[in-house]
Amino acid sequence: MIVKRRIFPLRIKVNDAVQRRLPVNHPKLPEVIQDSLKARAGHKGEEALDYYTSLLHQDEFHIFQGLRLNSGQAYFQMDSLLLSPSFALIIEAKNMAGTLTFNSSFNQMERTFNDKTDTYEDPILQAKRHRLLLQKWLKLHHFPQLPIEYIVFSSNPSTSLRNPFNDQEIYQRVCPPGKIIFKIEEFISKYKKEILSLREQKNLSKLLLKSDVLPGSHLHQFKIAPSDYLTGVQCPSCFQYAMERYGGTWNCPHCGTTSKDAHKQAIEDYFLLISDTITNKQFRIFLHIHSPKLATKLLASMDLECHGAARRSCYYTPQ
Ligand SMILES: [Zn+2]
Repeated sequence: MIVKRRIFPLRIKVNDAVQRRLPVNHPKLPEVIQDSLKARAGHKGEEALDYYTSLLHQDEFHIFQGLRLNSGQAYFQMDSLLLSPSFALIIEAKNMAGTLTFNSSFNQMERTFNDKTDTYEDPILQAKRHRLLLQKWLKLHHFPQLPIEYIVFSSNPSTSLRNPFNDQEIYQRVCPPGKIIFKIEEFISKYKKEILSLREQKNLSKLLLKSDVLPGSHLHQFKIAPSDYLTGVQCPSCFQYAMERYGGTWNCPHCGTTSKDAHKQAIEDYFLLISDTITNKQFRIFLHIHSPKLATKLLASMDLECHGAARRSCYYTPQ
């Protein structure tokens, strides 16, 4: 049973908005594109993991995709958490093409791709840290200490996995796609004793779901001045920020494309890049429209929360 479904990452939405709104020669653009590639690869790996866990027997586990908790000291996000009455399983997904070499002596992982080698933290160490934090979380909320297992899921079937020191832990804990179901079956056979009653499992699931904390935006990391962003309504065909509103539609003076709802993208970009609230005046400035009446009409047509009356209205991003 999937208790918490994965949501599309805010990081990718923010990066897309930045890429749409920065001039092509902006010095921060390469950094944003790099971050985007990494985030998209990560998300693809998580989706592959979701596919494999969906193959499990439906009632066997309560499944949490991308659950983010506060241990009392730190936030931690598990790519997948599987909960049964007998044990919990943390799965970290890695989607990296090329060759992954595990160096357990230093808890490092090297990735070689296109003749370039980069060093990363050993993902097993990361999974272990999450296990420790989940144990703390369970203690904090007075639940019995369940056995917590952990594995690393290497989602790309063409990734070559190397274990030069023949470390047993690497063989045991790192799973290529085809192996993961069998690995989970192994844990099911190993942990027969029920630690949680069905009621306790249900209560724990409820509290885990309630305790999920969405990550905030990472936009500040790029240190981009809000005034650097292009304003206006983007043409969906020629991508210029030049659409003008007349006759009840948006019209592009460059290519003649018309659109009923090109303003939706603009307001989403505003919420992702500038602020999570917008006033009628800010809306007009950002979308290059003159009429406050038209701005009110367009804002009202979107599913936003509205606070305050008349001229002082402030609109909030939908949650
Ligand atoms: Zn156009």
